[in-house]
Amino acid sequence: MTNANDNAAGAGTDFDAIVVGAGFAGMYMLHRLRGQGMRVRVLEAGSSVGGTWYWNRYPGARVDTETMFYSYQFSSELEQEWEWTERYPSQQELHAYARHVADRFGLWPDIQFESPVVKSTWSENRQNWTVETADGTSLTARYCVMATGCLSAVNTPTYKGLEDFSGSVYHTARWPEDGVDFSGLRVAVIGTGSSGVQSIPVIAEQAKHLTVFQRTGNYVIPAHNRALDPEKVAEIKANYPALRAKARASFSGNYFPVGGPSAMAVSEDERNREYESRWQEGGLAFMAAYADFMTSEEANETASEFIRNKIRGIVKDPTMAELLAPKQLFMCKRLCVGTDYYETYNRDNVTLVDVSETVIDEILPEGIRVGETVYDVDAIVLATGFDAMTGALKRIDIRGVDNASLRDLWEDGPRAYLGLAISKFPNLFMITGPGSPSVLTNMIPSIEQHVDWITDCLADMRARGMSRIEPEPDAQEAWVAHVNEIADLSMRSTCSSWYLGSNVDGKPRVFMPYIGGFPAYVRKCEEVVEAGYAGFSFAEHANHSFMRCGYRP
Ligand code: NAP
Repeated sequence: MTNANDNAAGAGTDFDAIVVGAGFAGMYMLHRLRGQGMRVRVLEAGSSVGGTWYWNRYPGARVDTETMFYSYQFSSELEQEWEWTERYPSQQELHAYARHVADRFGLWPDIQFESPVVKSTWSENRQNWTVETADGTSLTARYCVMATGCLSAVNTPTYKGLEDFSGSVYHTARWPEDGVDFSGLRVAVIGTGSSGVQSIPVIAEQAKHLTVFQRTGNYVIPAHNRALDPEKVAEIKANYPALRAKARASFSGNYFPVGGPSAMAVSEDERNREYESRWQEGGLAFMAAYADFMTSEEANETASEFIRNKIRGIVKDPTMAELLAPKQLFMCKRLCVGTDYYETYNRDNVTLVDVSETVIDEILPEGIRVGETVYDVDAIVLATGFDAMTGALKRIDIRGVDNASLRDLWEDGPRAYLGLAISKFPNLFMITGPGSPSVLTNMIPSIEQHVDWITDCLADMRARGMSRIEPEPDAQEAWVAHVNEIADLSMRSTCSSWYLGSNVDGKPRVFMPYIGGFPAYVRKCEEVVEAGYAGFSFAEHANHSFMRCGYRP
């Protein structure tokens, strides 16, 4: 791996832009801004590129979106030359892809690794950002782009006694680079979201005994992962532009075959045939079987019960099967995609513990206490997820105009214009921030759309001699109200999930992503530009006088 800390240009001096994070968003942002002739520094907490696909190295980690479409599309050369090997590639393959992108586009020299950003402060006098890293280094730049990821701030439960546990404790999103050997050990996994679902079958194969602590049973669709068929790959590559366009035109930016408008408009037999065919095909496309899962409880229940029956058919112990069978609405929490997930519970070395009502009381040196029972274990795996969407931003002390604190302003939930920018924080952009479709879509097209929008905006500003951009408070409030209003139309906003922040103690319950779909959102961003950046204020280089609602003649 190349680490360019020593040879990055202009260390300690001003940059045109600082990008925080070298995941898929930060890497592409760097590439585009450099293409505008800007001097850019990327600050990254980890020691390599890849973001999510650098940090999440837990056993069994792999993407659950088909990767021929979960990949960059900005470069047809890249698209054509990179050879994916599996339908759902492993973390290792995705990380190799990220490194290849950094090599191919010469990104390494402008990325500073092991540099977690702790503070970012706007100066009205100097019209720039000072960005500070944990080691006390500070850099200044006119623009600051937060490419900090939606699912990057780790959520670690505050169990009494955790620090006194005599064995090792791991979090799935901070897995040791050298891996972990669980052979001969009694292992606990706490959490049954996507990370738990992927790691549990792999850990069960290695550990002497695995005890899974489940607070909420999840819907898990089989992945049916497989090696990619070279003929199919060639066909996709030959038709990439059209297929990508089709995916971008879909609600989630994914290339899912779309089913019928309503699960209730067809007979039970027809519906179950549709579900069965999607179950056999595997993956997230199950969600697209019918369009009314999030608006009709009756429709939702048909899919829920189909999956519960699958679980009852797979898991031999009926009590365990009922415990695994999810009780909440289908798609309320993020749907999981797994390999041998439910089958794993038929193993003799796997125990399932329900912690939905009798919770984990404390961690003892020898194990985990739930009520009166102590489960002796040698290692604990926390698959407990993330402080999603706002966590990574709020963990940085971000100060805007008049020293306004983002943490304070977002105390009751995030407020941003288009999920791209925030009033009182001039020249600060977010990639896939709260209020944008982000986590409800295929992340890579959403990232590319934001990066392209920001790049075009900065190019427009430069062409017109502008150097300061900030959303107007009323435009921001109107967007936040719209995001909330359409969230309320969906049952997704009614149940506990990280989309609402309900997985983190004390976090306000606000449905954070924009649920109106990728095409509607993209259209809105385009309309804002067409209307001369409606809702943004700009200032010129010379006098920083403000121009309301656009600057085009
Ligand atoms: P998650 O979905 O938030 O799941 C965390 C799990 O930990 C949940 O089962 C949660 O229970 C449980 N939990 C949290 N705190 C707990 C506590 N104090 N005691 C007991 N249980 C507790 O997190 P994740 O599995 O890391 O996944 C997060 C998201 O990352 C996914 O939804 C997905 O978007 C993304 N992801 C994607 C992939 C992929 O592409 N393959 C893989 C991993 C993650 P409750 O449900 O009751 O809160």
